[in-house]
Amino acid sequence: MASANASDCVKVAIRVRPFVQSELTRGCENIIEKTPDQPQLVVKGDSYSKHQDCYTFNDVYTPEDSQLEIYNTSVQPIIGKLFEGYNVTILAYGQTGSGKTYTMGTCFEGNWDNPCTGIIPRALKDIFVSVKELKEKSCEVTMTCSFMELYQENLYDLLSGKSKDQSLCEIREDSIKGIIIAGLTEQPIANSTQAAQCLMEGGSNRTVGATAMNDVSSRSHAIFTVNLKVKSEEGGTTKAKFHLVDLAGSERSKKTKATGTRFREGVKINHGLLALGNVISALGGGTGTTGGYISYRDSNLTRLLQDSLGGNSVTLMIACVSPADYNIEETLSTLRYADRAKKIKNKPVKNLDSNKVEIQRLKDTIRDLRASLDEA
Ligand code: ADP
Ligand code: MG
Repeated sequence: MASANASDCVKVAIRVRPFVQSELTRGCENIIEKTPDQPQLVVKGDSYSKHQDCYTFNDVYTPEDSQLEIYNTSVQPIIGKLFEGYNVTILAYGQTGSGKTYTMGTCFEGNWDNPCTGIIPRALKDIFVSVKELKEKSCEVTMTCSFMELYQENLYDLLSGKSKDQSLCEIREDSIKGIIIAGLTEQPIANSTQAAQCLMEGGSNRTVGATAMNDVSSRSHAIFTVNLKVKSEEGGTTKAKFHLVDLAGSERSKKTKATGTRFREGVKINHGLLALGNVISALGGGTGTTGGYISYRDSNLTRLLQDSLGGNSVTLMIACVSPADYNIEETLSTLRYADRAKKIKNKPVKNLDSNKVEIQRLKDTIRDLRASLDEA
């Protein structure tokens, strides 16, 4: 698997899933071809020759590529960044039924050794291996996780153990602490079993609904977050946030044949994804930039991810697509969205312990005051 020459901080991978039964029954034809030994895709199709196009990304995965291959190539190399104090965000984008949930492993069923197991459980397993090593070196490690669902601009806590209307949370911005989600459960996790329990509990509380595109499709963004704090023997603290986001289907409302609630859901989903696309594009200096201003406030999705996109973060977007001619419009739209994301140029900076920053600031102030006394 070759890698394109791109920034180390933002990677964009494409995953083409295998045909699903409904596409085979429909007699769909394959429209996607990967260029051998290149992370490049060509979208073709006899009856769609006007759509001929070619795209290059950091990594391109074909239907033959396994969950393990994706994890090892695109995900594992960035997990280590968490322990260096960088925030890491992995986003799965694509139309409903394109393989986002399968790829992310948001619907984990507890089997760590299943070859179909997706990114989240694999990442958790690796994080705990690193945590064990750190503890052996007398580091103090604190890990918590949260699981949120963003549905129609409302943010729900999937681990509250309460009914939906009682698990509504609020996004607040704090000048020192950054983004705070008021009312969100931060579940301490000391081992992979506890982490799996959170993942399974939250997954079973997600909102699902039927559309014409998929029998049971997720119409909400699911955000699984791991908060990591490592205190070394010498007293230095490293903090990092790991967001794993299974985005809602990117299809336009028209294609889902949605009406009423389903239609309104579609409009809000597209609004959030559009805001995400604008933020991502603005970070790269593309359209959506207003004199260096990044419009995180345009949607709750971007407000929520504000401190984890750009700045001190490492981002991986996995755009999932179907290989079938039937889905060509959505596939091209996903490829264009991902192509725009590829242009982000983050310059990550490590999270610094806020106490340390404050102590340093006070030390500097004392030094300045002493200097002014000496001059007097
Ligand atoms: P989404 O979350 O984007 O709506 P899903 O992850 O639910 O899509 O995938 C739709 C269907 O395709 C599921 O039945 C899933 O198991 C299957 N699928 C998706 N990606 C793959 C893959 N790479 N290999 C095998 N099956 C897949
Ligand atoms: Mg899904």
